[in-house]
Amino acid sequence: MKKEYIIPIFVPHLGCPNNCIFCNQKKISGQTKMVTAQDVYDTIDYYLKNFKDNNKYVEVAFFGGSFTAIEREKQEELLGAVQKYIKNKKVNSIRISTRPDAIDKDILKMLKKYKVKTIELGVQSMNNYILDRCERGHTVEDVKKASKLIRRNGFILGHQMMVGLPESTVQDEINSAKEIIKLKPKIVRVYPVLVIKDTPLVDEYEKGEYMPLTVTQAVERCKEIVAMFNKNKINVIRIGLQNTEEISDPANKASQVVAGPFHPAFRQLVESSMWYDSILDKIKKINTKVIEVEIKANPENINNIIGHKKENVQKLKQVYDVDVVVKADEKIKPGKFEIEILKTYS
Ligand code: SF4
Repeated sequence: MKKEYIIPIFVPHLGCPNNCIFCNQKKISGQTKMVTAQDVYDTIDYYLKNFKDNNKYVEVAFFGGSFTAIEREKQEELLGAVQKYIKNKKVNSIRISTRPDAIDKDILKMLKKYKVKTIELGVQSMNNYILDRCERGHTVEDVKKASKLIRRNGFILGHQMMVGLPESTVQDEINSAKEIIKLKPKIVRVYPVLVIKDTPLVDEYEKGEYMPLTVTQAVERCKEIVAMFNKNKINVIRIGLQNTEEISDPANKASQVVAGPFHPAFRQLVESSMWYDSILDKIKKINTKVIEVEIKANPENINNIIGHKKENVQKLKQVYDVDVVVKADEKIKPGKFEIEILKTYS
């Protein structure tokens, strides 16, 4: 199987017609200057030199702004700069992220011409009140229209959704996930809201008008949504913002995060918590009081079963007084596990 590599090119805030209250892409990406074709060449050359595998699939990804809302000439300059790498087969495809109200037939035609394969839409919520509250400047209808157009024109559709937006409840987020599922994206990213410096959300936070989720609350909310996407075979490619110098613990000097559920291993927290629930469920169904069980699973799931800093194993001991031995077994499919009782009270 080919190893997938992404070459990220940030176009921070380019094309955004407004400022969504939680967003400061310049702070998030740590980049403020305008991107040019030369930057595209330099970034691609730099990454290609450092990729080790011969058998690889390389995608150039324009992140961090509203790509299709950038002036057309700039879009073509940046996409045009990737073409020679596609022609000589050094790059396989292009992905862009953009706003739902910046998609139409004409734009999609242009993206096709430049071999864009995946389009990720910043959906954030499927509730018009919340979209409005966050000053997104687009509606749920825009998301529906854009998603259909993207899929109908043969692109891979991706959605980005946020958890913990101002005034958003657990139920709002479950409803948003349900609506997203109906639009059949192939991939989704789920981001809990962090309060980033120099955003309108910081002012709300400082005035006590916005209260971010705690890490535990964010894990609980994301868990539910991720389970819905998993059940519908939608690939959750990211949970939580990528950990960088700017997106790091608020205690770090360079961090642009003021408050919110930041955790360097947020995805692992969510996935481990999901494993904890399913293992506990199985243990509870055992019709006798167990002292020790053995769990066998695919090696790729072992860390999440044990939990971040062994949290799951410790919690099962502390709360249910069950000792857990975890063993890797290649024969078990990823995502599945087998449980065997080693010791009981009777
Ligand atoms: S969230 Fe997206 S559309 Fe809103 S300001 Fe940030 S990059 Fe622009």
